[in-house]
Amino acid sequence: MKEAKKFVTRFAPSPNGWLHLGHAYSALTAARAAQDAGGDFLLRIEDIDVGRARPHFVEGIYQDLDWLGLAWPEPVMLQSTRFAIYEAALAKLREQELAYPCWATRGDILAAIEAHKDWPRDPDGAPLYPGLYRDLPESRRKQLMWEGKPYCWRLDMTKARARVSEQLSYKECHGQPETLPLDPSAFGDVVLARKDVPTSYHLAVVIDDAAQGVTQVTRGQDLQPATAIHVLLQKLLELPQPDYLHHPLVRDVTGRRLSKQAGDNGFRNLRQEGMSADAVMALLPPPFGRG
Ligand code: GLU
Repeated sequence: MKEAKKFVTRFAPSPNGWLHLGHAYSALTAARAAQDAGGDFLLRIEDIDVGRARPHFVEGIYQDLDWLGLAWPEPVMLQSTRFAIYEAALAKLREQELAYPCWATRGDILAAIEAHKDWPRDPDGAPLYPGLYRDLPESRRKQLMWEGKPYCWRLDMTKARARVSEQLSYKECHGQPETLPLDPSAFGDVVLARKDVPTSYHLAVVIDDAAQGVTQVTRGQDLQPATAIHVLLQKLLELPQPDYLHHPLVRDVTGRRLSKQAGDNGFRNLRQEGMSADAVMALLPPPFGRG
């Protein structure tokens, strides 16, 4: 009989701000899932955004989670130490001609779709990439590379779907577990490696979840649509497919979802004001608090 894989889940914050109560909820949800399953809770620092990630935010993550009573195995995986691994995965996709370089700026993209009323948007609300630079002859690509302008790498979604043509689905573990269908094509030619960073969130997250043996990805509902991209990349890169638990987002009293960008500094401030971890937990939605 095949031995069941050990349950492994993770909390994977980006250190470009202080953690807010939504992060506390996410980390506690993951840690509790690991505890219930007799498995492991891992921490991973998603610091690929070299322009915004800061060491004091990494330290802040360790301190805040420790204060909440969480523990995780060391050493913690830092994505900024793994760029060569992401580049190797991208090379694999390039060799299969599933990725192409794209020199388009944001302005170029907006100009290309300007004349089209009701240009389609992806599930995150961004306008679908209009395919600029997708079908360039190799000679033109070489020439553009010589010119030295920055470019990103995009997934050729049509070719990727030709390679992996089956209906994709995943197991959602929030509430009663269920199998849900996925439609990666709705995202178009997603970025695999940014102009300034040799990977993207999508590429790094699937590689690292596989590298860490994650069997359940625990994260907020805002990332549920992106699961379509992640499962497609897992198939293309022949990585195991984990289950997913997308938990509801923590909202403030006005119903607005918390975000670092909006300056929701959250529980670091509360803790520095002398609030206890129990009192902070009581602010969270069930099962941790009454919030
Ligand atoms: N690093 C992402 C964030 O902080 C989370 C990624 C994930 O859990 O898949 O929003």
